[in-house]
Amino acid sequence: MTRNSFDYIVIGGGSGGYAAARTARETCEHVAIVDCAPTLGGLCILRGCMPSKTLIYSAEVLHLAQLADKFGLDIPESKVDMARLHKRKLDTIQEFAEYRQEQLESDRFTLFRNRAKFIDENTIELDDGTRLRADHFMIATGSVVSEPPVPGLADVPYWTSDDILDLDFLPEKIIVLGGGIVACELTQFLRRVGSEVIQIQRSPHILKETSPEAAEVIEQQLISEGVELYTGTALEAISHSDDGFTVDFTHDGASKQVSAPFLLNALGRRPATDGLGLEAAGIEIETSGHIRCNDLQTTSNPKVSACGDVAGPHEIVHVAIMQGELAARHATSRPASPVDYDSLLGVVFTDPQIGHVGLSERTLKERGIEYLSADYPFDDHGKSILMEAKRGYVKVMADKTTGVVLGAECVGKDGGELIHAMAVAVTMKATVHDLLKVHWYHPTLSEIWSYPLEDIADEL
Ligand SMILES: Cc1cc2nc3c(=O)[nH]c(=O)nc-3n(C[C@H](O)[C@H](O)[C@H](O)COP(=O)(O)OP(=O)(O)OC[C@H]3O[C@@H](n4cnc5c(N)ncnc54)[C@H](O)[C@@H]3O)c2cc1C
Repeated sequence: MTRNSFDYIVIGGGSGGYAAARTARETCEHVAIVDCAPTLGGLCILRGCMPSKTLIYSAEVLHLAQLADKFGLDIPESKVDMARLHKRKLDTIQEFAEYRQEQLESDRFTLFRNRAKFIDENTIELDDGTRLRADHFMIATGSVVSEPPVPGLADVPYWTSDDILDLDFLPEKIIVLGGGIVACELTQFLRRVGSEVIQIQRSPHILKETSPEAAEVIEQQLISEGVELYTGTALEAISHSDDGFTVDFTHDGASKQVSAPFLLNALGRRPATDGLGLEAAGIEIETSGHIRCNDLQTTSNPKVSACGDVAGPHEIVHVAIMQGELAARHATSRPASPVDYDSLLGVVFTDPQIGHVGLSERTLKERGIEYLSADYPFDDHGKSILMEAKRGYVKVMADKTTGVVLGAECVGKDGGELIHAMAVAVTMKATVHDLLKVHWYHPTLSEIWSYPLEDIADEL
């Protein structure tokens, strides 16, 4: 007979939920996972990081092939084969998903393939009527695409990122609504495989969570690749007919209208809390819609934690995993430390990529921290020049007195890889002098970090 009382129950078996379940199982005998998805694996594997980066990498290879002439190569014809690209994505994702499914279905856990909701502070009810109790619950239900109140948006058959990641044909023309990370990554992907792309962003800059300088580099890159980009707009109306979609908006004080057969709503995601019965369990939510948690991920109900996209504040896989692990350790009476958001690492997988770690200049100024900063451009660096990867820069921020590295930013070829050198430095609280002892190999992209580090060391 299946038990209905557990030490620990996780609702949602994605990246955060699985990390919590695995961690709880280290000390608990009876751990259950409840997930209602038709296919197990979670957002990252099925419809997020992994499929998007698979497609984006193919588009980067194509882009390089199309620049063959610059490299002294003769590649007569390079173009996408959407059906084969789609097949490669499916095969790649299937491998990752199967691995996760095996983990979830292992006899270490009791898996319920159901939707769950709280009916009181200690009990959840599944959609088949089964009631389960636990000493502790973890909510890791992720996020869903949000639909901001733009007139007409709710009534038209727009695409989401799920549809773009599953394309097996090339949309000849598409309007992308939004300028966040997902919007920019998918805009560049679509443009590189050959779609005509119109991108409409409401804020004055795309990628508003990065620095304006970083966003500027990506804006210039997208425009140079032929994206029709509008920033600082107000969306007025969206409609759909047999001819496709029409978007009315204002830009630079003037009314504009654009049309295309396809429309991508990439205006953001919101925490997946609908129908979870949070009130019945005394679980509060923030004005952002995220579940309110303390720094050990405990909700306003001390027997319930939350992690990942549903908890925020950053919708990033490694944060979901860190939160899930620490919450499960805390719930099972083991030492746990809060996530250190002052050493947060973020990556935008455009090309050039953006990598940033630690405190931004904006935050340093807001907190009144005295710092020194130095930057260096990729168009004056040997390895990036020979790679024809001259757009972008690296920047380091260090404490004005101690030289401890507080933050760094890299906008450039493989910036998401390069930033990890500084992620180690920020996390370990290394000084610029420590980092100048590193053997920076020549000629590499990584050695570019030594220039701003030297500049700051000279100033200290
Ligand atoms: C296109 C795209 C690209 C991205 N790229 C990156 C990237 O490159 N790097 C990065 O760090 N992040 C990326 N992200 C974000 C990342 O995917 C998410 O932050 C992460 O996957 C969230 O994990 P999670 O565990 O919170 O939720 P999820 O992985 O979404 O898991 C939630 C699970 O809960 C289940 N569930 C929901 N409600 C219920 C319920 N009531 N009962 C039972 N089960 C339920 C769902 O079925 C699902 O399996 C991307 C996101 C998108 C959309």
